[in-house]
Amino acid sequence: MYAERVLSGMRPTGSLHLGHYHGVLKNWVELQQKHPCLFFVADWHALTTQYDDPQGIVTASWDMVIDWLAAGVDPQRATLFIQSQVPEHAELHLLLSMMTPLGWLERVPTYKDQQEKLESKDLSTYGFLGYPLLQSADILIYRADKVPVGEDQVPHIEFSRELARRFNHLYGREAGFEDKAREAVRKLGSKRARSYTQLRTHFQQNGDRTAIERAHALLDEVPGLAHADRERLCGYLEGTGKMILVEPGALLTAASRMPGLDGQKMSKSYGNTITLREDAASVTHKLRRMPTDPARVRRDDPGDPDRCPVWQLHQVYSDEACQKWVQQGCRSAGIGCLDCKQPVIDAILVEQAPMHERAQPYLDDPRLVREIVAEGNRKARQLARETMRDVRDAMGLNYG
Ligand code: SF4
Repeated sequence: MYAERVLSGMRPTGSLHLGHYHGVLKNWVELQQKHPCLFFVADWHALTTQYDDPQGIVTASWDMVIDWLAAGVDPQRATLFIQSQVPEHAELHLLLSMMTPLGWLERVPTYKDQQEKLESKDLSTYGFLGYPLLQSADILIYRADKVPVGEDQVPHIEFSRELARRFNHLYGREAGFEDKAREAVRKLGSKRARSYTQLRTHFQQNGDRTAIERAHALLDEVPGLAHADRERLCGYLEGTGKMILVEPGALLTAASRMPGLDGQKMSKSYGNTITLREDAASVTHKLRRMPTDPARVRRDDPGDPDRCPVWQLHQVYSDEACQKWVQQGCRSAGIGCLDCKQPVIDAILVEQAPMHERAQPYLDDPRLVREIVAEGNRKARQLARETMRDVRDAMGLNYG
Protein backbone atom coordinates (compact mmCIF):
# COMPACT_ATOMS: atom_id res chain seq x y z
CA MET A 1 0.00 0.00 0.00
CA TYR A 2 2.62 2.49 1.09
CA ALA A 3 6.20 2.23 -0.13
CA GLU A 4 8.08 -0.62 1.50
CA ARG A 5 10.28 0.69 4.25
CA VAL A 6 12.62 -0.75 6.86
CA LEU A 7 12.94 1.11 10.14
CA SER A 8 15.41 0.42 12.91
CA GLY A 9 16.91 2.47 15.70
CA MET A 10 19.60 2.26 18.32
CA ARG A 11 20.04 4.02 21.63
CA PRO A 12 23.18 6.12 21.88
CA THR A 13 25.11 4.28 24.55
CA GLY A 14 28.67 5.26 23.61
CA SER A 15 31.12 3.46 21.33
CA LEU A 16 29.63 0.40 19.71
CA HIS A 17 31.32 -2.96 20.05
CA LEU A 18 31.64 -6.07 17.93
CA GLY A 19 28.47 -7.45 19.51
CA HIS A 20 26.55 -4.57 17.94
CA TYR A 21 28.31 -5.21 14.66
CA HIS A 22 27.47 -8.91 14.49
CA GLY A 23 24.02 -8.54 16.06
CA VAL A 24 22.68 -5.47 14.25
CA LEU A 25 24.94 -3.53 11.93
CA LYS A 26 25.88 -6.36 9.58
CA ASN A 27 22.18 -6.91 9.10
CA TRP A 28 21.57 -3.21 8.42
CA VAL A 29 24.31 -3.24 5.78
CA GLU A 30 22.56 -6.15 4.06
CA LEU A 31 19.10 -4.63 4.39
CA GLN A 32 20.16 -1.35 2.81
CA GLN A 33 21.05 -3.29 -0.37
CA LYS A 34 17.52 -4.67 -0.64
CA HIS A 35 15.09 -2.10 0.76
CA PRO A 36 14.71 1.61 1.44
CA CYS A 37 15.94 1.92 5.02
CA LEU A 38 15.59 4.46 7.80
CA PHE A 39 18.06 4.12 10.66
CA PHE A 40 17.75 6.42 13.62
CA VAL A 41 19.49 7.42 16.81
CA ALA A 42 16.92 6.78 19.54
CA ASP A 43 18.09 9.60 21.80
CA TRP A 44 14.72 10.12 23.48
CA HIS A 45 14.67 6.42 24.32
CA ALA A 46 17.99 6.88 26.10
CA LEU A 47 16.18 9.32 28.39
CA THR A 48 13.68 6.72 29.55
CA THR A 49 16.38 5.14 31.70
CA GLN A 50 18.95 7.93 31.73
CA TYR A 51 16.71 10.91 32.50
CA ASP A 52 18.85 11.84 35.49
CA ASP A 53 22.07 11.99 33.48
CA PRO A 54 21.44 13.21 29.92
CA GLN A 55 24.74 15.06 29.46
CA GLY A 56 26.55 12.47 27.36
CA ILE A 57 23.71 11.73 24.95
CA VAL A 58 24.69 14.17 22.19
CA THR A 59 28.34 13.11 22.08
CA ALA A 60 27.35 9.44 22.21
CA SER A 61 24.95 10.02 19.32
CA TRP A 62 27.61 11.47 17.04
CA ASP A 63 30.07 8.72 17.97
CA MET A 64 27.46 6.12 17.24
CA VAL A 65 26.70 7.50 13.80
CA ILE A 66 30.43 7.36 12.98
CA ASP A 67 30.37 3.71 14.09
CA TRP A 68 27.44 3.01 11.76
CA LEU A 69 29.30 4.59 8.86
CA ALA A 70 32.44 2.70 9.82
CA ALA A 71 30.49 -0.56 9.76
CA GLY A 72 29.40 0.11 6.18
CA VAL A 73 26.02 1.78 6.58
CA ASP A 74 25.82 3.87 3.44
CA PRO A 75 24.10 7.27 3.60
CA GLN A 76 23.52 7.10 -0.14
CA ARG A 77 21.31 4.08 0.40
CA ALA A 78 19.85 4.60 3.86
CA THR A 79 18.43 7.62 5.66
CA LEU A 80 20.25 8.27 8.95
CA PHE A 81 18.57 10.60 11.40
CA ILE A 82 18.15 11.56 15.03
CA GLN A 83 14.80 10.90 16.68
CA SER A 84 14.60 14.17 18.63
CA GLN A 85 15.25 16.16 15.46
CA VAL A 86 11.95 14.91 14.07
CA PRO A 87 9.57 16.25 16.73
CA GLU A 88 6.58 14.67 14.98
CA HIS A 89 7.55 11.46 16.83
CA ALA A 90 6.57 13.22 20.06
CA GLU A 91 3.31 14.51 18.63
CA LEU A 92 2.23 11.06 17.48
CA HIS A 93 3.32 9.60 20.81
CA LEU A 94 1.10 12.08 22.61
CA LEU A 95 -1.91 11.51 20.37
CA LEU A 96 -1.54 7.73 20.66
CA SER A 97 -1.26 8.03 24.43
CA MET A 98 -4.81 9.41 24.52
CA MET A 99 -6.23 6.17 23.14
CA THR A 100 -3.89 3.58 24.60
CA PRO A 101 -5.37 1.54 27.45
CA LEU A 102 -3.04 1.51 30.44
CA GLY A 103 -3.28 -2.27 30.69
CA TRP A 104 -1.72 -2.66 27.24
CA LEU A 105 1.41 -0.89 28.44
CA GLU A 106 1.62 -2.71 31.75
CA ARG A 107 1.47 -6.09 30.09
CA VAL A 108 4.36 -5.49 27.65
CA PRO A 109 6.70 -8.27 28.80
CA THR A 110 9.87 -6.19 28.94
CA TYR A 111 8.32 -3.57 31.25
CA LYS A 112 8.56 -5.57 34.46
CA ASP A 113 11.76 -7.36 33.34
CA GLN A 114 13.61 -4.12 32.78
CA GLN A 115 12.33 -2.59 35.97
CA GLU A 116 13.68 -5.57 37.89
CA LYS A 117 16.97 -5.65 35.96
CA LEU A 118 17.64 -1.96 36.50
CA GLU A 119 16.43 -1.92 40.07
CA SER A 120 19.10 0.60 41.12
CA LYS A 121 17.18 3.22 39.11
CA ASP A 122 13.79 4.63 39.89
CA LEU A 123 11.89 3.60 36.80
CA SER A 124 8.40 4.11 38.10
CA THR A 125 8.07 7.00 35.67
CA TYR A 126 5.50 7.86 33.05
CA GLY A 127 8.24 7.96 30.38
CA PHE A 128 9.42 4.45 31.16
CA LEU A 129 5.92 2.99 31.14
CA GLY A 130 5.25 4.77 27.84
CA TYR A 131 8.46 3.54 26.24
CA PRO A 132 6.74 0.94 24.00
CA LEU A 133 4.31 3.62 22.92
CA LEU A 134 7.12 5.92 21.85
CA GLN A 135 8.62 2.96 20.02
CA SER A 136 5.30 2.40 18.26
CA ALA A 137 5.10 6.07 17.30
CA ASP A 138 8.62 5.75 15.82
CA ILE A 139 7.45 2.89 13.63
CA LEU A 140 3.96 4.05 12.74
CA ILE A 141 5.01 7.55 11.78
CA TYR A 142 7.01 6.14 8.86
CA ARG A 143 4.38 3.57 7.91
CA ALA A 144 7.25 1.11 8.07
CA ASP A 145 6.20 -2.34 6.99
CA LYS A 146 9.47 -4.01 7.97
CA VAL A 147 11.00 -3.73 11.40
CA PRO A 148 14.02 -5.95 12.03
CA VAL A 149 13.71 -7.51 15.47
CA GLY A 150 14.85 -10.48 17.47
CA GLU A 151 12.33 -13.00 18.82
CA ASP A 152 12.08 -11.17 22.15
CA GLN A 153 10.98 -7.94 20.47
CA VAL A 154 8.07 -9.46 18.57
CA PRO A 155 5.54 -8.48 21.29
CA HIS A 156 6.54 -4.84 20.73
CA ILE A 157 5.66 -5.13 17.06
CA GLU A 158 2.39 -6.83 17.92
CA PHE A 159 1.70 -3.93 20.28
CA SER A 160 2.27 -1.46 17.43
CA ARG A 161 -0.04 -3.47 15.19
CA GLU A 162 -2.79 -3.40 17.81
CA LEU A 163 -2.36 0.34 18.20
CA ALA A 164 -2.59 0.92 14.45
CA ARG A 165 -5.75 -1.19 14.33
CA ARG A 166 -7.27 0.70 17.24
CA PHE A 167 -6.40 4.05 15.71
CA ASN A 168 -7.82 3.09 12.30
CA HIS A 169 -10.93 1.72 13.95
CA LEU A 170 -11.49 4.89 15.98
CA TYR A 171 -10.60 7.50 13.41
CA GLY A 172 -10.76 5.76 10.04
CA ARG A 173 -14.55 5.86 9.93
CA GLU A 174 -15.92 8.63 7.76
CA ALA A 175 -19.45 9.43 6.77
CA GLY A 176 -20.49 7.51 3.67
CA PHE A 177 -17.33 5.36 3.77
CA GLU A 178 -18.85 2.43 1.86
CA ASP A 179 -20.10 4.67 -0.96
CA LYS A 180 -16.79 6.49 -1.19
CA ALA A 181 -14.90 3.19 -1.23
CA ARG A 182 -17.12 1.80 -4.01
CA GLU A 183 -16.56 4.97 -6.00
CA ALA A 184 -12.80 4.55 -5.50
CA VAL A 185 -13.06 0.98 -6.81
CA ARG A 186 -14.72 2.26 -9.97
CA LYS A 187 -11.88 4.72 -10.48
CA LEU A 188 -9.47 1.79 -10.76
CA GLY A 189 -10.78 0.98 -14.23
CA SER A 190 -12.83 -2.10 -15.08
CA LYS A 191 -10.03 -4.67 -15.21
CA ARG A 192 -8.29 -3.60 -12.02
CA ALA A 193 -11.63 -3.07 -10.27
CA ARG A 194 -12.60 -6.67 -11.08
CA SER A 195 -9.30 -8.06 -9.76
CA TYR A 196 -9.53 -5.89 -6.65
CA THR A 197 -13.10 -7.04 -5.94
CA GLN A 198 -12.17 -10.70 -6.41
CA LEU A 199 -9.19 -10.39 -4.06
CA ARG A 200 -11.33 -8.58 -1.48
CA THR A 201 -14.00 -11.28 -1.64
CA HIS A 202 -11.33 -13.96 -1.41
CA PHE A 203 -9.89 -12.39 1.74
CA GLN A 204 -13.20 -11.71 3.39
CA GLN A 205 -14.54 -15.22 2.70
CA ASN A 206 -11.37 -17.25 3.32
CA GLY A 207 -9.21 -14.96 5.44
CA ASP A 208 -6.40 -15.42 2.93
CA ARG A 209 -3.70 -12.80 3.70
CA THR A 210 -1.95 -13.38 0.37
CA ALA A 211 -5.06 -11.97 -1.32
CA ILE A 212 -4.55 -8.78 0.71
CA GLU A 213 -0.90 -8.60 -0.28
CA ARG A 214 -1.80 -9.06 -3.95
CA ALA A 215 -4.46 -6.37 -3.70
CA HIS A 216 -1.94 -3.96 -2.13
CA ALA A 217 0.49 -4.74 -4.96
CA LEU A 218 -2.28 -4.03 -7.44
CA LEU A 219 -3.00 -0.66 -5.82
CA ASP A 220 0.70 0.20 -5.91
CA GLU A 221 0.57 -0.05 -9.69
CA VAL A 222 -2.33 2.34 -10.18
CA PRO A 223 -0.97 5.62 -11.52
CA GLY A 224 -2.30 8.82 -10.01
CA LEU A 225 -4.50 7.17 -7.38
CA ALA A 226 -5.48 9.87 -4.88
CA HIS A 227 -4.10 9.45 -1.39
CA ALA A 228 -7.53 9.41 0.29
CA ASP A 229 -8.83 6.82 -2.18
CA ARG A 230 -5.81 4.63 -1.52
CA GLU A 231 -6.51 4.75 2.21
CA ARG A 232 -10.18 3.91 1.60
CA LEU A 233 -9.36 1.02 -0.72
CA CYS A 234 -6.89 -0.45 1.75
CA GLY A 235 -9.37 -0.20 4.59
CA TYR A 236 -12.23 -1.50 2.44
CA LEU A 237 -10.21 -4.62 1.64
CA GLU A 238 -10.10 -5.64 5.27
CA GLY A 239 -13.57 -4.45 6.11
CA THR A 240 -12.39 -1.56 8.27
CA GLY A 241 -12.49 2.19 7.71
CA LYS A 242 -9.67 4.17 6.11
CA MET A 243 -6.24 2.78 6.86
CA ILE A 244 -4.34 5.76 8.19
CA LEU A 245 -1.68 3.98 10.19
CA VAL A 246 -0.10 0.91 8.67
CA GLU A 247 0.29 -2.26 10.71
CA PRO A 248 4.02 -2.96 10.73
CA GLY A 249 5.52 -6.37 10.09
CA ALA A 250 8.40 -7.92 12.03
CA LEU A 251 11.44 -8.83 10.00
CA LEU A 252 12.76 -11.61 12.20
CA THR A 253 16.52 -11.56 12.50
CA ALA A 254 18.50 -14.55 13.68
CA ALA A 255 19.70 -14.14 17.24
CA SER A 256 23.40 -13.46 17.38
CA ARG A 257 25.17 -14.17 20.61
CA MET A 258 28.52 -12.57 20.12
CA PRO A 259 30.74 -13.83 22.94
CA GLY A 260 32.67 -11.31 24.97
CA LEU A 261 36.19 -11.62 26.35
CA ASP A 262 34.94 -13.69 29.29
CA GLY A 263 32.60 -16.02 27.41
CA GLN A 264 29.44 -14.18 28.48
CA LYS A 265 27.46 -12.29 25.86
CA MET A 266 29.46 -9.22 24.77
CA SER A 267 28.01 -6.28 26.64
CA LYS A 268 29.27 -2.97 27.94
CA SER A 269 27.78 -3.72 31.34
CA TYR A 270 29.96 -6.85 31.66
CA GLY A 271 33.12 -4.94 30.71
CA ASN A 272 34.01 -7.68 28.18
CA THR A 273 33.88 -5.79 24.90
CA ILE A 274 36.06 -4.97 21.93
CA THR A 275 34.87 -1.77 20.33
CA LEU A 276 34.37 -1.44 16.61
CA ARG A 277 37.28 0.92 16.17
CA GLU A 278 39.53 -0.23 18.98
CA ASP A 279 43.19 0.09 18.08
CA ALA A 280 45.18 -3.00 17.11
CA ALA A 281 47.49 -2.91 20.14
CA SER A 282 44.56 -2.88 22.55
CA VAL A 283 42.72 -5.67 20.69
CA THR A 284 45.86 -7.82 20.75
CA HIS A 285 46.48 -7.10 24.41
CA LYS A 286 42.92 -7.93 25.43
CA LEU A 287 42.82 -11.16 23.44
CA ARG A 288 46.18 -12.33 24.72
CA ARG A 289 44.99 -11.80 28.29
CA MET A 290 41.69 -13.58 27.76
CA PRO A 291 40.96 -16.41 30.20
CA THR A 292 41.12 -19.93 28.79
CA ASP A 293 40.12 -23.39 30.00
CA PRO A 294 41.08 -23.24 33.70
CA ALA A 295 42.29 -26.86 33.47
CA ARG A 296 45.17 -25.79 31.22
CA VAL A 297 47.49 -24.55 33.88
CA ARG A 298 50.71 -25.54 32.13
CA ARG A 299 51.52 -25.61 28.42
CA ASP A 300 51.51 -29.43 28.36
CA ASP A 301 48.13 -29.82 30.12
CA PRO A 302 45.47 -30.88 27.61
CA GLY A 303 42.41 -28.65 27.52
CA ASP A 304 38.79 -28.70 26.51
CA PRO A 305 37.63 -26.01 24.03
CA ASP A 306 34.07 -26.36 25.31
CA ARG A 307 35.20 -24.82 28.58
CA CYS A 308 37.14 -22.01 26.94
CA PRO A 309 35.79 -18.60 25.85
CA VAL A 310 38.44 -18.37 23.12
CA TRP A 311 36.81 -21.33 21.40
CA GLN A 312 33.55 -19.38 21.20
CA LEU A 313 35.37 -16.67 19.29
CA HIS A 314 36.84 -19.30 16.96
CA GLN A 315 33.27 -20.36 16.21
CA VAL A 316 32.54 -16.82 15.03
CA TYR A 317 35.79 -16.10 13.22
CA SER A 318 37.53 -19.30 12.13
CA ASP A 319 36.98 -21.62 9.21
CA GLU A 320 36.54 -25.36 9.54
CA ALA A 321 40.23 -26.19 9.12
CA CYS A 322 41.25 -23.75 11.82
CA GLN A 323 38.54 -25.00 14.18
CA LYS A 324 39.78 -28.57 13.66
CA TRP A 325 43.32 -27.41 14.41
CA VAL A 326 42.10 -25.87 17.68
CA GLN A 327 40.11 -28.94 18.73
CA GLN A 328 42.99 -31.33 18.11
CA GLY A 329 45.74 -29.06 19.34
CA CYS A 330 43.93 -28.13 22.55
CA ARG A 331 42.86 -31.63 23.50
CA SER A 332 46.34 -33.05 22.82
CA ALA A 333 48.22 -30.06 24.27
CA GLY A 334 49.79 -29.81 20.81
CA ILE A 335 49.28 -26.02 20.73
CA GLY A 336 49.67 -23.36 23.36
CA CYS A 337 46.88 -20.92 24.21
CA LEU A 338 48.72 -17.95 22.70
CA ASP A 339 49.12 -19.90 19.42
CA CYS A 340 45.43 -20.66 19.56
CA LYS A 341 44.45 -17.03 20.08
CA GLN A 342 46.50 -15.66 17.20
CA PRO A 343 44.07 -16.57 14.35
CA VAL A 344 41.24 -14.86 16.31
CA ILE A 345 43.36 -11.74 16.82
CA ASP A 346 44.23 -11.71 13.11
CA ALA A 347 40.59 -12.19 12.05
CA ILE A 348 39.33 -9.37 14.28
CA LEU A 349 42.01 -7.00 13.01
CA VAL A 350 41.11 -7.88 9.41
CA GLU A 351 37.44 -7.27 10.19
CA GLN A 352 38.20 -3.89 11.75
CA ALA A 353 40.63 -2.61 9.10
CA PRO A 354 37.94 -1.33 6.68
CA MET A 355 36.03 0.16 9.62
CA HIS A 356 39.02 2.28 10.61
CA GLU A 357 39.42 3.31 7.01
CA ARG A 358 35.77 4.28 6.55
CA ALA A 359 35.67 6.20 9.84
CA GLN A 360 38.80 8.27 9.21
CA PRO A 361 37.31 10.96 6.93
CA TYR A 362 34.52 11.56 9.48
CA LEU A 363 36.99 11.82 12.32
CA ASP A 364 39.09 14.24 10.28
CA ASP A 365 36.08 16.38 9.43
CA PRO A 366 33.10 15.94 11.77
CA ARG A 367 31.08 18.35 9.63
CA LEU A 368 30.62 15.49 7.15
CA VAL A 369 28.69 13.51 9.77
CA ARG A 370 26.61 16.56 10.68
CA GLU A 371 25.72 17.04 7.01
CA ILE A 372 24.71 13.41 6.53
CA VAL A 373 22.47 13.53 9.57
CA ALA A 374 21.01 16.93 8.66
CA GLU A 375 19.99 15.55 5.28
CA GLY A 376 18.59 12.41 6.95
CA ASN A 377 16.63 14.52 9.45
CA ARG A 378 15.17 16.51 6.59
CA LYS A 379 14.07 13.40 4.65
CA ALA A 380 12.66 11.68 7.71
CA ARG A 381 10.77 14.79 8.74
CA GLN A 382 9.15 15.04 5.34
CA LEU A 383 7.81 11.49 5.67
CA ALA A 384 6.73 12.07 9.26
CA ARG A 385 4.89 15.23 8.32
CA GLU A 386 2.91 13.40 5.64
CA THR A 387 1.69 10.88 8.19
CA MET A 388 0.88 13.55 10.77
CA ARG A 389 -1.14 15.49 8.24
CA ASP A 390 -3.33 12.38 7.73
CA VAL A 391 -3.45 11.67 11.46
CA ARG A 392 -4.59 15.21 12.27
CA ASP A 393 -7.14 15.13 9.46
CA ALA A 394 -8.52 11.82 10.67
CA MET A 395 -8.79 13.09 14.25
CA GLY A 396 -10.39 16.35 13.19
CA LEU A 397 -7.43 18.36 14.45
CA ASN A 398 -6.67 20.20 11.27
CA TYR A 399 -6.96 23.92 11.91
CA GLY A 400 -6.17 24.81 8.30
S1 SF4 B 1 44.21 -24.06 23.33
FE1 SF4 B 1 42.65 -22.62 22.67
S2 SF4 B 1 40.73 -23.61 23.12
FE2 SF4 B 1 42.27 -24.68 24.27
S3 SF4 B 1 42.26 -23.73 26.27
FE3 SF4 B 1 43.83 -22.70 25.07
S4 SF4 B 1 42.83 -20.96 24.16
FE4 SF4 B 1 41.25 -22.36 24.87
